[in-house]
Amino acid sequence: MVLDGPEAPTHPDCARCPARCCHTLDVHVTAHDLRRICDALTVPAESFVCLTTTPRSSPDSFLLSGEGAEYELVLDRRPGCVFLLRLDEAGRARCGVYEHRPMVCRAYPFFPTADADVVTLTVDADALCPPPLLDVARVPAGAPLPTLFSKQVERDVHRLAIDRWNRWVAAEATPAADAGALLRWLLSAAAATTDLLTPILEDSHLRLAWCQRAAEVGNPLLPRPHATPAPRRGLAPHLRVLVEALTTAPMR
Ligand code: SF4
Ligand code: SF4
Repeated sequence: MVLDGPEAPTHPDCARCPARCCHTLDVHVTAHDLRRICDALTVPAESFVCLTTTPRSSPDSFLLSGEGAEYELVLDRRPGCVFLLRLDEAGRARCGVYEHRPMVCRAYPFFPTADADVVTLTVDADALCPPPLLDVARVPAGAPLPTLFSKQVERDVHRLAIDRWNRWVAAEATPAADAGALLRWLLSAAAATTDLLTPILEDSHLRLAWCQRAAEVGNPLLPRPHATPAPRRGLAPHLRVLVEALTTAPMR
């Protein structure tokens, strides 16, 4: 399905679902997710996230105090998402932070794949949505694309922030590199880049260029070998400014 168009908030039909995804999945949050929720609820990030150890390195995993173990940052579970409001014994439930929910929740169960000229909407092969509620043939062309682009851009910024954090921890092996310091750094990283992301997320050409660049080289913000072709469609200045903002923001 080739996409272009506004977001349609009605698909899949979550209002008729017992919130399977919210009960079941680990919700990975980014720096910008943290900032939105903290600002909206005026609560500290520590009150709604937890760290889980992960057996494998990934662009989302981070070190603490140089101790070797790697962690990932997810919404707390009690069980089920910390923000899930259970309404009755029949299993009806709603998101308690719907307007501010993480990007991964907004995008689920879709993700974009891109090649040189088109972005394609793909459905997670393991989607938990009850089949009658997720009829892919009824998803309007382009429906969730702006959300998927936003998720990708914010995730890439988050991963650069994590990369910088891990380099700092590995270099300094400091006891101060605890979970609280990590959350403060991520919130600083989000504050330093929120305004810089606006012109990208509001420009459909730049969003598409970002997605295509990610398909070509992985995270567009991470350094590339000199042989890599330059980013297209005016993206390069935005990438430079974002990298500079995250490189110069103080770690503590
Ligand atoms: S934040 Fe909301 S949408 Fe996301 S998993 Fe939690 S309850 Fe569900
Ligand atoms: S499992 Fe699918 S249909 Fe159910 S709440 Fe999650 S996204 Fe909506």
